[in-house]
Amino acid sequence: MAIKIEKKITGYNVVKPEDKVAATPVTAAASKETTTAEVIQMHESVERPETLVGSTFKIKSPLFEHALYVTINDIVLNAGTPHELRRPFEIFINSKNMDHFQWIVALTRILSAVFRKGGDVTFIVEELKAVFDPRGGYFKAGGVYMPSIVAEIGSVVEQHMKNIGLIHDPEMDAATRQLIADKRAAYEQAGAKKKADVTAAPVGAASAATTPAETESSGFPPGATLCQKCNTQALVLMDGCQTCLNCGYSKCG
Ligand SMILES: [Zn+2]
Repeated sequence: MAIKIEKKITGYNVVKPEDKVAATPVTAAASKETTTAEVIQMHESVERPETLVGSTFKIKSPLFEHALYVTINDIVLNAGTPHELRRPFEIFINSKNMDHFQWIVALTRILSAVFRKGGDVTFIVEELKAVFDPRGGYFKAGGVYMPSIVAEIGSVVEQHMKNIGLIHDPEMDAATRQLIADKRAAYEQAGAKKKADVTAAPVGAASAATTPAETESSGFPPGATLCQKCNTQALVLMDGCQTCLNCGYSKCG
């Protein structure tokens, strides 16, 4: 079938079998299917609209003299329809620090290209978070360990993808949540008891009872070590077994 092209060609795509199905003449029976086929997904020839919505995150790392500002802009596909989707479209990282300029530019260009390619782009989060700095990482507020600045950029991308509904936190089931709460209560009680035993004087016992276990700003007991599962300083020794008070991980199963 020959088709006369009236307009100037600005781009082209190879027709895939599923496109042929969508392009077949609309019959009464097929009309329902064609409406669902019109839902636009992210793909490499989606053009950038004039305006994009986005968020900017600030990263302050002891490895960097100046803060990094990470901006992720999203494209809204199928706006105003029940199929409205928000997908990351581009990423920019700004900093006063010029030492890292070239790799940051390279990273943001590649990430933006991955975003525009479409498909499942959430894999980049794990790729970035797995990068470690051989000079050592650092702890964030809340006791979360960042193995590198790249890993922190990865966690920012993850946070953004959670905000726009692209990544969903695995729902922690009620049983696990209860287990963690129980373990935590038991740990704090044990700590309070130990304290009371050491300072047997009535005054000491009273003060120990009011502060069951000192907790740092992170909310986990001091001396907690790094959990290898959730990268949080929340691993405590309970009944001779390393137990994480953040994710429930236990070395003894
Ligand atoms: Zn954990």
